[in-house]
Amino acid sequence: MMHNESITEQLHSLTIGKYSSKELTENYIHRIKQLKHLNCFISVLEESALQTAADADQARYKGKVGPLTGIPIAHKDIFCTKNIATTAGSQMLHNYIAPFDATVVIKIAAAGAITIGKTNMDEFAMGSSNETSYYGAVQNPWDTDRVPGGSSGGSAAAVAAGLCSAATGTDTGGSIRQPSAHCGITGLKPTYGRISRWGMIAFASSLDQAGPMTRTAEDAALLLALMAGGDPKDSTCIRDDVPNYLEYLNTTLEGARIGVCDDFFADGLEAKSEEVIQDALKIFEQLGATTKSVKLPHIKYSVPAYYVIAPAEASTNLSRYDGVRFGYRCKDPENLNDMFKRSRSEGFGDEVKRRIMTGAFTLSTGYYDAYYRKAQQIRRLIKNDFHQAFNEVDFLIGPTAPQPAFMLGEKTESHIDMYLQDIYTIAANLAGLPAMSIPIGFSSKLPVGLQLIGNYLAEGTILSAAHQYQKRTDWHKCFPMMTTSESQR
Ligand code: GLN
Repeated sequence: MMHNESITEQLHSLTIGKYSSKELTENYIHRIKQLKHLNCFISVLEESALQTAADADQARYKGKVGPLTGIPIAHKDIFCTKNIATTAGSQMLHNYIAPFDATVVIKIAAAGAITIGKTNMDEFAMGSSNETSYYGAVQNPWDTDRVPGGSSGGSAAAVAAGLCSAATGTDTGGSIRQPSAHCGITGLKPTYGRISRWGMIAFASSLDQAGPMTRTAEDAALLLALMAGGDPKDSTCIRDDVPNYLEYLNTTLEGARIGVCDDFFADGLEAKSEEVIQDALKIFEQLGATTKSVKLPHIKYSVPAYYVIAPAEASTNLSRYDGVRFGYRCKDPENLNDMFKRSRSEGFGDEVKRRIMTGAFTLSTGYYDAYYRKAQQIRRLIKNDFHQAFNEVDFLIGPTAPQPAFMLGEKTESHIDMYLQDIYTIAANLAGLPAMSIPIGFSSKLPVGLQLIGNYLAEGTILSAAHQYQKRTDWHKCFPMMTTSESQR
């Protein structure tokens, strides 16, 4: 079925004329409607997508083919899109129409792709379950009573359910990798700065990074090559040449040294997930890699350090939503202060307010040294730990999430429990390293993800390792059974 194919397969089908881009897009639009209850999308761009598909078919006929011509891609609703609503999952931006496209959106469109829609997400990307979205929770296509993970939950569920060929996501503390794990897809968070943040609504600027969410590592390599690269509009964006990641894919794992950190397998990791990860490690060994235990002594402080740094940056980034220039404005304000106060109180959801308050607190005089400075020092120690580890190994392997997808509503009251969902992913953000999640099996019929963490700008290394694994196994070819009864729920 065309909606279950990878981008690479779809490009081949389009080339040989097995189906047209119009047919492919129509099929996705039909499925999006049929599986509306999953709530993956905040905006579906039916009309423009079908038009772009028809244009793509014409272009292909005339031999004008780009690397993604005719492929329908969804963007997380955190990327600004010209003339189309960009909400960041918040009521605050419910009526925000950006006057420009994000660099990522421009680059993907320039490659010939079709923007099929904007995907649901946790409000301002704060969350691990997609339940903080003003537009409602997203259902996991593997079990609709469960969360898809977050904050890129809409993107992950849309790719898993076959509603688009691939999607973009953003990852500040795990938001590409954790939902990818829970939905059984491949998700890559590149090195900090590898992809421009311009036009990506800011959460925590020193951690935020965009990346591809796809069916296969090969598709992730294809998309990364198109999304990455210097951007004069983002001064933190890395200007180094973008390698041809597809060329890396056939590097064998013969002689590769894989680091395994014992802390990743401490209490808290579900037993069946651990078993599945050990099985995956054996495959990597069969493919010629050797494993080695490595120490990351400060990794245990990553969650507390992140929950000081990320809210601190969020509190400053979100100060721009004051009801004056853009965003939600309360009705009939009595005076200026009343307008600021009520616009922010009414426009933001609870989790966002919690982060703003924590952030404002840790940055305030008297607490700055005790919390913010300490957290930054810990961040450096974590970075140093990885530096040490990469002297001995080529990449690290471990779990992506402590357990498979949990039930909707299960953790909404327990904030700490929710924060701990990113216990394995956050360190890569604090250190700025590339990391990805790939599907490697199931626990109680729910997908389990494996995390691969690479050295700076070594996306090619983890992508090729993932590709070699996917050549040997079929987990990435497993699809949720979306039955008619489920689609009516
Ligand atoms: N779940 C983490 C948080 O709530 C990470 C979110 C993200 O990566 N955007 O902050």
